[in-house]
Amino acid sequence: MNEPTLNRTLPARCEVLVIGAGPAGSACAQMLARAGRDVLLVDRQDFPRDKVCGDGLIPDAHHALTRLGVHEPVMARARVADHVRCVGPRGGRIDVPGRLAVLPRRELDAILLDAARAAGARVATPWRFEAPLQEGERVVGAWLHGAATAEVRADWTVLATGAAAQPLQRMGACVRQTPSAIALRGHVRHAAMDEGWRTLDVVWHRAFAGGYGWIFPGPDGVFNIGVGAAGAGQTHLRDLMARFAAVYEPAGRLLREGQWVAPAKGAPLRWSLTGAQPVRPGLLVAGEAVGSTYAFTGEGIGKALETGILAAEALVAGGGDAAVQRQYAAALAAIKPRFDLYERAQRINRYPWLVDLLIWRANHTPALQRRMAGVLEETAHLGDPLSPRGLMRLMWPK
Ligand SMILES: Cc1cc2nc3c(=O)[nH]c(=O)nc-3n(C[C@H](O)[C@H](O)[C@H](O)COP(=O)(O)OP(=O)(O)OC[C@H]3O[C@@H](n4cnc5c(N)ncnc54)[C@H](O)[C@@H]3O)c2cc1C
Repeated sequence: MNEPTLNRTLPARCEVLVIGAGPAGSACAQMLARAGRDVLLVDRQDFPRDKVCGDGLIPDAHHALTRLGVHEPVMARARVADHVRCVGPRGGRIDVPGRLAVLPRRELDAILLDAARAAGARVATPWRFEAPLQEGERVVGAWLHGAATAEVRADWTVLATGAAAQPLQRMGACVRQTPSAIALRGHVRHAAMDEGWRTLDVVWHRAFAGGYGWIFPGPDGVFNIGVGAAGAGQTHLRDLMARFAAVYEPAGRLLREGQWVAPAKGAPLRWSLTGAQPVRPGLLVAGEAVGSTYAFTGEGIGKALETGILAAEALVAGGGDAAVQRQYAAALAAIKPRFDLYERAQRINRYPWLVDLLIWRANHTPALQRRMAGVLEETAHLGDPLSPRGLMRLMWPK
């Protein structure tokens, strides 16, 4: 991987200013640059940079990475896995097949940023978004703070600053300040455990009802281990991690014997396409800023990439303020029902006994196994596990 050349200078104007160079921002910038738009992509951090994440790439991310032409370089570095292992409170387990991989975000996001730059986007870091530039109600660029404070004027601005509420508030696009969930992860090396480990383990247990724990094997024998829980309230993530280690033997062993590569760090998540206003005159909001992460799984890289691409498509189609806003809002509305299904499926996290039942049933029912694989591939869904009809469908799938 090449270390990107740092560019500290800002142009005074551009056609599209993309703020935030995570998956959503880099995907958007790349697609715009490919279509010949003059794009400036800025981030408050220099790259490569870390991002608190589980680092798991599920099928939707693979599709989007292919579309962005970076699947090959990503897979050249990523650790491949072939199943998600769902582990219930009583220790029952089922392995759900899928196209899976793990790559630390420090590497993944640098590859995506490089690809945006290679497509022709200008990149400037570290520049932090401070406030919008406005003409009346219309956003016409932004104030950025880096080596100095500077303004960049733009025909359009895309806000892709992730799950933090502050940039949304400053942009006047925040509907809900609190995140949907919080999660904690660490990177721990354990060469002996690494041998032959091919699954992304997701673990439910009464000890951390409302959330789940995970162990994902990354490159170079380094595991990503974490816990997450819905809501922002009273959850003490370090307690949850200790409980995870106590109830799931591989987690306990990893934390006891492994060597910490990066300390455990927490971060918020915003999901279900809620919590933000997706459009304002002159502005589109993409990625986790618009709530693009899936409830239930907490997976968001693929959907952040997708919403970045959708924002770029609306801008490339053009046709004036109203047409661009309409196209992007319609594109998000078209994918919203799927987010709603994940939101409903997420309720299963509060009732770990249901996971036991689901795993037990799946181990006896090939149709349910296929449905679970379909959920991962996004060709099927679990429905509402707490409604009588949803429960019936789970127990007796067609
Ligand atoms: C603990 C945890 C585990 C997770 N595990 C997974 C997983 O395994 N798989 C998965 O698919 N998803 C996972 N997610 C979700 C995933 O991390 C997000 O969905 C994804 O990062 C969203 O991408 P994004 O581009 O919208 O935002 P981000 O990746 O957050 O990128 C936003 C960018 O904006 C920049 N920025 C922020 N504020 C400013 C500002 N004021 N000015 C300029 N730049 C700014 C940041 O520096 C950053 O580079 C996890 C999340 C957490 C917290």
